[in-house]
Amino acid sequence: MKKLLYQFDTDPLASVFDNVVAHDGGADVVVPYGGITPANVGGLVDGAIFTRAPKDKKLTAIFVGGSDMAAGEALLKAVKKKFFANFRVSVMLDSNGSNTTAAAGVAWLHHAAKGRLAGKRAVILAGTGPVGQRAAVMLAREGVQVAITGRSKEKAQATAKAVAERFKVEVEAIEAADNAARVKAIQGAQIVFATGAAGVQLLDEAAWREHKTLELLADANATPALGIEGIDMMDKMKERHGKLVFGALGFGALKIALHRACIGKLFEQQDLSLDCDEIYAIAKTMVG
Ligand code: NAP
Repeated sequence: MKKLLYQFDTDPLASVFDNVVAHDGGADVVVPYGGITPANVGGLVDGAIFTRAPKDKKLTAIFVGGSDMAAGEALLKAVKKKFFANFRVSVMLDSNGSNTTAAAGVAWLHHAAKGRLAGKRAVILAGTGPVGQRAAVMLAREGVQVAITGRSKEKAQATAKAVAERFKVEVEAIEAADNAARVKAIQGAQIVFATGAAGVQLLDEAAWREHKTLELLADANATPALGIEGIDMMDKMKERHGKLVFGALGFGALKIALHRACIGKLFEQQDLSLDCDEIYAIAKTMVG
């Protein structure tokens, strides 16, 4: 019996990236649906949960993606609401690669800190996007004092509040619209994780070269201009200016391996739910 993955994307066109990784992760057939919302997903979930015999249900799974984190979270909730008793299949949420990218980056930071992240201060630059939001949760789970920056105070505060409420963690919001403000935001920090939009430089090299407290830096942006000047996108725990740094492709290999591994796990049982905490836990077993 074939392994079937139903790709429910909140964007009008389903992600090709997610489709390719789904195949590479072990799905035999990946069916992409775009424009999926809580209002129209019900019948699709019914089709997934009512068709196969109990012993074969683990060979059907659902992937929720799209560029909007909040829309993805709402869709995941709607999917799970349709499940009851034994009528359920495994499901994974990874809007814009949020969970797998953040988990790969934070797992590497945890590894580079030799497991001792607790008590440190991390600033997630442009942390209002999907990757930054999930990185905030994962770092907070490690006992890190987390702040996210954004260009507007309102958006940063709203994002921090939503993350804090959903995951029961503390996240500080800092308005930082330019390099000078971000320099101020990272004062006293040990960790900087840049999760800004592709092609946007957030911090210049002078801001971290002589920095007295910084120990670890990571940049998720693989599209020039990179998010943190002075980090090469291939850097993987490379020492620069006395700090250990990671570029987007440096930790990106783990991201892809993790994403594939998660897809593979969906077909091992009927009731797996992979979101922030579960995906981070898997990443920690794969890093290094
Ligand atoms: P995103 O939503 O596109 O952007 C994140 C934040 O960047 C936005 O919320 C916005 O924050 C800020 N931003 C946008 N334009 C800006 C500008 N011109 N100047 C300053 N800030 C700006 O990003 P994402 O989906 O979370 O992804 C984060 C990064 O990870 C991206 O660079 C993406 O390409 C990368 N990525 C890497 C991998 C990998 O394996 N390495 C995988 C997936 C994604 P404010 O509006 O609040 O300022």
